[in-house]
Amino acid sequence: MCGLGIGWRLAQAGCRVDIFDKGAIGRGASHAAAGMLATGVETEPGELALLQLNLRSQRAWPAFAGEVEAASGRDIGYRGDGTLVIALTRDDERHLRFLHDFHRGAGVDVALIGGGEARQREPYLNPRIPAAVWSPNDHQVDNRALTAALAEAAARAGARLHPDSAVEAVGIGDSRAAGVVVAGETVPADAVVLAAGAWSRTVGGLEPAALPPVRPVKGQMLALQMDPDAPLLCHVLWAPGVYLVPRRDGRLLIGATVEEKGFDDTITAGGQYALLDAAWRALPGIEELPIAETWVGFRPGSRDDAPILGPGPVDGLVYATGHHRNGILLAPVTADLVSRFVLTGALDPALAPFTLARFDPAVEPGPAALAAE
Ligand SMILES: Cc1cc2nc3c(=O)[nH]c(=O)nc-3n(C[C@H](O)[C@H](O)[C@H](O)COP(=O)(O)OP(=O)(O)OC[C@H]3O[C@@H](n4cnc5c(N)ncnc54)[C@H](O)[C@@H]3O)c2cc1C
Repeated sequence: MCGLGIGWRLAQAGCRVDIFDKGAIGRGASHAAAGMLATGVETEPGELALLQLNLRSQRAWPAFAGEVEAASGRDIGYRGDGTLVIALTRDDERHLRFLHDFHRGAGVDVALIGGGEARQREPYLNPRIPAAVWSPNDHQVDNRALTAALAEAAARAGARLHPDSAVEAVGIGDSRAAGVVVAGETVPADAVVLAAGAWSRTVGGLEPAALPPVRPVKGQMLALQMDPDAPLLCHVLWAPGVYLVPRRDGRLLIGATVEEKGFDDTITAGGQYALLDAAWRALPGIEELPIAETWVGFRPGSRDDAPILGPGPVDGLVYATGHHRNGILLAPVTADLVSRFVLTGALDPALAPFTLARFDPAVEPGPAALAAE
């Protein structure tokens, strides 16, 4: 999806753009995600630089959604309903209060509310909830519809999409990225954007220093089917160990495990049981719902969980990878700021903490260190 967004923007600007995918277009992590645009609830202490980027992208989302829909002629299921985070025990409540105070201190609009008020918003919640946090600006988008719409928008703007066309290597000529090698042939380019998600280290032709430190972080999910006319849940819900995302068509997404298992795509009883058990504790009525789908995706996790954006050690090679848990949220800023860098060579200050250079200790501290200063 990062590649589609950047490719769309570059094609809009009049560039000749080719987007290669080793499989079907847009079927990586962006297809597997839950589509939460979660700035107010996802950020952990120590991620303040990332929080600023997340907030910027969150603010850009309403206009971005409108633009993608207009450019593609497709509905992307953007819903501005907000998010509820619930505690189930007194221990959870203490943790919730701590995160609430941290988020408020960082300028995020969140409010602590009582269990009764939470149940007014969502009547089918477990009645024993002691407290909740209401995050009015954390919305959602249908990420599968989004990737399809971005592909359509990019194609309409003139980008050429190449499914089932793995990039074997970045072609290097005169010490700079000069194109990509696909099926043994070099496709020349003025600039190459590496946006291969969790697979970003598998692309050949690059010295170790130019390989982004990205690994797959496995996530299992499932979807239940609610009655769309009488949904059990209307807002995105976070509960201990799980989140639940209701779609307009009645699908209720439940996610996600976080597993360090490489590219193992097994759906396990333990993973699914843990998700269902945690979801059932929050919303007991789910036990009657049919299971519609189970799946696995691979988050592109970097060494500090923040994205890797902009230039690196090879001229002409630009990075847009490592988005980990926030790639859907970060779609607008990734598309806008990375394409602007490709077009102008000017790095937006918002991207400066997120270049590959931060992983070289001799060059720069990482975002976490910057945030602490
Ligand atoms: C279970 C789960 C839930 C998530 N939930 C959310 C959420 O609610 N909100 C949020 O903001 N983020 C979420 N994320 C994270 C988000 O999905 C990712 O950060 C984002 O999708 C990354 O986008 P990407 O374009 O970098 O990677 P991908 O979507 O994985 O795209 C990379 C593409 O590169 C292609 N590729 C790989 N190698 C090659 C090659 N050699 N040649 C050509 N093509 C290649 C792949 O086929 C793939 O299509 C979730 C992730 C998972 C797994």
